[in-house]
Amino acid sequence: MTDSTSPETTDQEWDEETDVIVVGFGFAGGAAAISAHDEGSDVLIVEKMPHPGGISICSAGGVRISRDPDGTFEYLKATNAGTTPDDVLRRFADGMAEVEDFIRELADVNGATVINRAGLGNYPLPGRNSFAFVMIEDIPGVDIDETYPYVRSLGAGSRLFKVVEDNVKHRRIPVYTSCRAHRLVTGPDRTVQGLVVERDGEKRRIRARRGVVLACGGFEADPSMQMQYWQGQPVFATAFRGNTGDGIRMAQDVGADLWHMWHYHGTYGFKHTDPDYPFGIRTKRLPDWFPVAEGEETVEWDSGFAGDRAVRMPWILLDRDGGRFMNEYEPYMQDTGHRPMQRFRPETQDYPALPGWFVFDEEGRKTFPVGQPLYNEEGVDFRWSQDNQAEVQLGILKAAGSLAELAAALSVDEAVLSATLERYNGYCTAGEDGAFGRPASSMMPVATPPFYYATAWPLVSNTQGGPVHDSRQRILDVFGDPIPRLYAAGELGSVFGHLYIGGGNLSECFVGGRAAGAGVAGEEAL
Ligand SMILES: Cc1cc2nc3c(=O)[nH]c(=O)nc-3n(C[C@H](O)[C@H](O)[C@H](O)COP(=O)(O)OP(=O)(O)OC[C@H]3O[C@@H](n4cnc5c(N)ncnc54)[C@H](O)[C@@H]3O)c2cc1C
Repeated sequence: MTDSTSPETTDQEWDEETDVIVVGFGFAGGAAAISAHDEGSDVLIVEKMPHPGGISICSAGGVRISRDPDGTFEYLKATNAGTTPDDVLRRFADGMAEVEDFIRELADVNGATVINRAGLGNYPLPGRNSFAFVMIEDIPGVDIDETYPYVRSLGAGSRLFKVVEDNVKHRRIPVYTSCRAHRLVTGPDRTVQGLVVERDGEKRRIRARRGVVLACGGFEADPSMQMQYWQGQPVFATAFRGNTGDGIRMAQDVGADLWHMWHYHGTYGFKHTDPDYPFGIRTKRLPDWFPVAEGEETVEWDSGFAGDRAVRMPWILLDRDGGRFMNEYEPYMQDTGHRPMQRFRPETQDYPALPGWFVFDEEGRKTFPVGQPLYNEEGVDFRWSQDNQAEVQLGILKAAGSLAELAAALSVDEAVLSATLERYNGYCTAGEDGAFGRPASSMMPVATPPFYYATAWPLVSNTQGGPVHDSRQRILDVFGDPIPRLYAAGELGSVFGHLYIGGGNLSECFVGGRAAGAGVAGEEAL
């Protein structure tokens, strides 16, 4: 074999071959591999990290499903605001109606219990009532923390990954871990014919007789790509270091068009004081989405829109001038929570809220843990304390005994800070946020010392941008033509181009993964 890296051509020898190569082993890669295998192909999964799982394994594990594909299509159309073609959204909506059956079939492998819960779309748009969630409640005899000791998730994400991984094992689909896909190999007619991978410092050329599925995530952990596509910097990844835009570059290399690169699913949160801690830490309003009451079958989205329930959330955010700048309780914080922080102020050539200040008081400290570390990373072990005290000890949160002390710590004028808090506390009493329309029932005064504060940063849970694909998951070039035998699945080139729906990325992993796997398996073998 040769050392040459680019361009990769087909006149060099192959080190091995298979029908289908799936790049990346999260939910999308797993679903694509299972589907391609079940369609009769020999499949190989290559995974860059030492363990499979990706972001998927540390997710909350809620998979959106549709109970009414027409309504779901309307909702997706509204939330995508023209950024994704109708036929792609239509296929996704139809696929969302089939996901539950697929997950139930997968769950047979280890007897996992699948639950189905109602759940509204996050925004009051047409079709909002057409959705539900499925998730894995339990796997008999499996202690998920013991199974994946390097993962901190809310449980359901890891359980769902265990179900997917057991299906891959059950089918004896080979998985090469610590094996990084490096370059696609194309023929003279641009047909994808294989892949160059790097494993233990050695490059190997693997032929794919039917094609390649790129399911290797986005660019959460690639500051250089973020620098080019996003406005305010830095934005910290919350959970996983493996997704560095490799699949996007590989697809670009063979002519792919890109979409939705600006759009990421994220909120605001904290930096750890330990410089070696690799992730930002998400804030979380709790309960976020859970059954309304024990034993009740519905899940309400606590968006604060009329008819929805809001939960009390103790903090406010301030910019560096000492004023509030946003509704801290946006309808879906994990979707848009980071966006107001990214306003550039040309007069002063800065981003006044990047970083901003996260502020709450002693009463707020007692409510619930304000941070929620979740990750897939060997060697990291961090849980947020129930009463937020350990984080004060660690210095992630800092305490100020009085308003004057707080103003000094935030480097803002005490009179300005005092006026900000007075105004906000007045809104709490009046039951109406006169400045930003935060839901009244979410508001708690910030009045009882000690006050607590931290710098607040934008965080990315996962990115949505990547190569454009059609309704069959085929990657398209800049003229809209499919690049032969190249498919995408999962958050790599997600359909979400404007607003996100909670649970939508996982749904996309299964819907798109299945379609990509079946599509590539249906290609004529070389
Ligand atoms: C904390 C958290 C909670 C979330 N909860 C939910 C939720 O409940 N519902 C929901 O819908 N979404 C949720 N999301 C988003 C969702 O988890 C992700 O968008 C989704 O799991 C992505 O799946 P994927 O298979 O596309 O990518 P991943 O699961 O990230 O898998 C991609 C894999 O590709 C590998 N890879 C990367 N580059 C290469 C390469 N060059 N060669 C080989 N392999 C490579 C990576 O190592 C990784 O294992 C959450 C995100 C976070 C951070």
